[in-house]
This record gives sequence, structure tokens and C-alpha cells, in this order.
Amino acid sequence: MSWENNVRKVVPYVAGEQPKNKNVIKLNTNECPYPPAPGVEAVLNHFDYDVLRKYPDPDVADLRTVLAKRYKVPVEQVFVGVGSDDVLAMAFLTFFNSEKPILFPDITYSFYDVWADLYRIPYECQALDEKFEIKKEDYCKENGGIVIANPNAPTGVAAPVSMIEEIIKANQDVVVIVDEAYVDFGGESCVPLVEKYDNLLVVQTFSKSRSMAGMRIGFAIGSKKLIGFLNDAKFSFNSYTMNATSIIAGVASVEDEAYFQEITGKVIATREWTKQELARLGFTFTDSKTNFIFASHKSIPAQEIFDALRENQIFVRHWNKERIGNYLRISIGTDEEMKQVMEFLENFINERK
Ligand SMILES: *Cc1c(COP(=O)(O)O)cnc(C)c1O
Repeated sequence: MSWENNVRKVVPYVAGEQPKNKNVIKLNTNECPYPPAPGVEAVLNHFDYDVLRKYPDPDVADLRTVLAKRYKVPVEQVFVGVGSDDVLAMAFLTFFNSEKPILFPDITYSFYDVWADLYRIPYECQALDEKFEIKKEDYCKENGGIVIANPNAPTGVAAPVSMIEEIIKANQDVVVIVDEAYVDFGGESCVPLVEKYDNLLVVQTFSKSRSMAGMRIGFAIGSKKLIGFLNDAKFSFNSYTMNATSIIAGVASVEDEAYFQEITGKVIATREWTKQELARLGFTFTDSKTNFIFASHKSIPAQEIFDALRENQIFVRHWNKERIGNYLRISIGTDEEMKQVMEFLENFINERK
């Protein structure tokens, strides 16, 4: 008998690489290429260091209040955490305690099965169709809960909110989590449905559309009851998840709606330009509503393109996985970065012929 028999053994999630070298075009983890709102820099420059001596507000009232106002819900319906990963992990722990399996797509954010394994939650993956779309029927059977990323990652495909609503309607005896990490890039949000369904939890993040991946801020909106249970679990785990600097920086970000609209609009415009270029170069891709494009070349294997890009200091994401092995996930950078990448690809494809 060894102590190792009593270890909770898990196969951890593997995040995209964060290269030390600054001279790379980094399109592998869906960060925003623009800086955070100017107000964020301003509050950090004038940060009162005495704040660090004390514990932060465990209720994170300031940040929850601005989010409640921005998303037009009562403050009791907002939960915040250390990135949406923290919010999602807490939601899995709180809401998925059935013997029945939770359901999520076969191709989706690869943290869902990791949390399920960590918490020993049974799960069953539902195959997306050949267009990487969700089949509603797959989610209309007995289950212990549902989690859907909408728009989905890494495919970029968005399901209509009407379909998500039908799934929620058919599953009112379990909690349905909709992960909206990418909704700000042209997707339609399920937040308005929270009023109608007390079993719906919508999760969003500051990491992509608010350019604050390094700050680690995520949040969830749900019924008062749902958020209450989430708080009970959180306060049984760690009362002070949100540190003082991320709270003030988060507030400053939400307060600048115009900047948020400006940078998400720029990313969308660059994405649409990139789609045209990729099509011209012989790529096919889903109709992404996110800040990345999931693309496959008609004749050159994804692995080969990935290696060539990497050798030239261009980082994108590739998975050696069933169904998606011939795809690259390319985050949307600045216009200048995307121009350089398209030029590189054009030369690479032409030389290879
Ligand atoms: C990026 C991402 C997250 C996590 O983001 P955080 O940085 O933890 O807020 C969650 N879900 C999906 C689908 C993502 O792509």
C-alpha cells in the first residue's frame, strides 16, 4: 500500500504555448491584439498600495455592480471569478452532482472533460455533425447537466440562441451552462434567457474581448438561486478569489463601453478580411463568429503548415486529434500581423506547388 493509491490522479488541461521570445506573431491562444481599455492603465498607475495590506472585498461588489448594470440584471445575479476557467470549475463542482452523465460536444473546449474527470462527474460527448454543428436531439435525453460553448471553440461555430433555448427548455431539471467566451465577436448572447430559465448559467470572460487574459477575470450570470448556490460553494473553498488589482482594473474596463465596441469591431473586420484571403489561398473554414478562424487547406496537411509557420515565428494552434487533425486554429491579430501571415502562407503555398 502506497500513499500514491490515495492520490487524485488527473490528466491536466494543456494550454497553448506562451513563447518567451517577443518577436513572434502570436496567434495561438485567442488573446486580443489590442491593449486593455486606457482606463485600466490609468487606475493601475494610480494604484494605492495600502490596498494590498488588506483583504479584498470578498463580495467583489464594485465589479459585480458595473457588470450588473452593463448586462441589465440585478447584482445578485452576477458571480465573478479568476477567469472563466475558475467560474466554470466552480459551476461544475456546484451543479453537476448527478449519477447521470453530463453532456457536451465531442469537439469543444478541452477543459470540460478535465474538470469532469477531476470531480469524478460522469460525462458523455455528443458528436457534432459534419459541419461541426450541434444536433439538438443529442441534448434531449436523460442527463446530469449540459455545457455548451457558444460560439464553440475551436470550431468558431455559433448555434442560434433559439436552438439553445430549446435545449434549455427540454432540460429544466438540470443546470445548463452556456460558455460565451467568444460571444462579443458577433455572436448572440443567451443572457436575456436568464430571466426565463432559473437553471441557465451564462459564463463570459475578460480574456478575449476585453484584452485582459493576464488579469484573470471571468463572470457568470444566472438566476438569483443559481448564483446563490455558486456563492455557497465559492465561500466554502476560497473567499478571496479576486485580488484587489483585478477588481479595480475590471471595473475600469467595463466602464469604457466605447473602447470595448471599438476593439471588438476591429477584430471582426480583420477576421472577415482574413476569411477572404484564406479562401483565395485554398483554405476552407467554418463561418467563425469568434476572434479566431478554424481552417483546413484543400491540399496541404495542417501539420505541415503548422510546422512551416512555427519555423517562421508564427504561432497558431493545431491538435493531433480525431476529426480536427487537419485544421489550424488561427487567432485574429492586428491587420499588420494578419497581412504578414497571409503573405507568408501565399509564398509557402506557391513554393510548395
Ligand atoms: C478562453 C476560454 C475560456 C477561459 O478563459 P479564461 O481566460 O479562463 O477566462 C473558457 N471557455 C472557452 C471556450 C475559452 O475559449
